[in-house]
Amino acid sequence: MRILILGGTGEASALVRGLGSRAGLSVTLSLAGRTAAPAREPVPTRIGGFGGAEGLARYLRAHAIDRLVDATHPFAARISRNAAAAAAETGVPLLAIRRPPWIRQAGDAWIEVDTIAQSVDALGVDPKTVFLTVGRMEVAAFANAPQHDYVVRTIEPLGEAMPVPRLTAIRARGPFDEAAETVLMREAGIAVLVTKNAGGNATYGKIAAARVLGLPVVIVRRPWKPDVPSVADAEAALDRLSGTARG
Ligand code: NAP
Repeated sequence: MRILILGGTGEASALVRGLGSRAGLSVTLSLAGRTAAPAREPVPTRIGGFGGAEGLARYLRAHAIDRLVDATHPFAARISRNAAAAAAETGVPLLAIRRPPWIRQAGDAWIEVDTIAQSVDALGVDPKTVFLTVGRMEVAAFANAPQHDYVVRTIEPLGEAMPVPRLTAIRARGPFDEAAETVLMREAGIAVLVTKNAGGNATYGKIAAARVLGLPVVIVRRPWKPDVPSVADAEAALDRLSGTARG
């Protein structure tokens, strides 16, 4: 069985590691190419866009793919729409890993917004120190609010992506635990955290730390993704695909 996994997430990595060595399976991982040096995975990896839903459908046919797995990030909405459309067009069964969102707990001071632009506005006009963890591709919008001090954490170098007068750039890849996040936010004098509602455990530490410190969190709601057969994590996807392989 030939499986194509659309990745760029911890779930995709866990799935390829789980599937990679199984007999009878030929697994290919697909990455968008946003990360200069992606973690090495034990299966063949292709990098770059397919050319929309039509391009993905062509790829599925050309490589005789039997199963398509959408293990992309909750905020990668376009590739998920393309995956659903390409699967429908080619008849290749699609399984999605849809990581559950974080749910507001007692003590959380969340300000929920729908877009990054709204998260900029939600910071208000008074200058404050902002912990920005929305990803390098999204930070440019915050140049419209240069009155704030920013601590910006990204995986890739920030470069000139965010021209504001006072910025501290941190390069790091999760997971990040609550204790370390609490220390970071306290020592940096953070007044507000901005994040996407990514869900999962790997980056939940900042949400828990903000709760402990009594800080507000501007949290961007998820974009819509198509309703397709899905599971919540890599383990469940592994079970589902192994069942299919055996069957
Ligand atoms: P997106 O807006 O949904 O996709 C934009 C385009 O990038 C797609 O139309 C597709 O190009 C290409 N693409 C996306 N994921 C791909 C994949 N796995 N393999 C091949 N091509 C892919 O996606 P995005 O938000 O830019 O995210 C890009 C990648 O980063 C995804 O793999 C995602 O899992 C990962 N990621 C995203 C975020 C986030 O916050 N958005 C966070 C962490 C990781 P074509 O139309 O030409 O095929």
